[in-house]
Amino acid sequence: MTGINYKNLPRLTRFVTGNFGVDSCHIISTHYIGAANKNRSRLRIDNKEQLPYVEAALRAFYGSVARPAFNLLSNYLPCLLPGRENVMSDWKYPELDDDLFLPGAAHRDRMYHMITEDLRMKAPSCRACVYNRACAGFEKEYFALYGADEFKPLKSRPAPLGPGPVYF
Ligand code: SF4
Repeated sequence: MTGINYKNLPRLTRFVTGNFGVDSCHIISTHYIGAANKNRSRLRIDNKEQLPYVEAALRAFYGSVARPAFNLLSNYLPCLLPGRENVMSDWKYPELDDDLFLPGAAHRDRMYHMITEDLRMKAPSCRACVYNRACAGFEKEYFALYGADEFKPLKSRPAPLGPGPVYF
């Protein structure tokens, strides 16, 4: 999802699920690293602007597919889309199986070297969130662009809004 393509996502999701038997999609919020960071003046998009389109794409997906084959969202957070946690990946601490919050020293010279614990941060208000112990937080570069006002602590775990994948 970037500032260039985000408005097309619901239509694209409806098109691929309705016409090609697609059984999962993977929507990744921009990581402001590498080329995306260099071009961020063109690609940037805040969550407030893009989330209605993400939610519309999820509704379009469930209009054609009963249960996704794998997680639908990457680099989003429970506080941004409450009730969609069961289709989110890449938001937890590593011991909870998140590859976006890795110990940097262990990944020097590997493709993950940019995606380490150096990438992320939390806000003081996160301490009040029901997911604080699991959540690895948001990206520092995102914070530099937009601040932390969008990340509102959740007081309780919301019920899932749709079925999640079943992993064996
Ligand atoms: S801990 Fe913070 S960043 Fe994580 S879901 Fe809660 S409010 Fe959002």
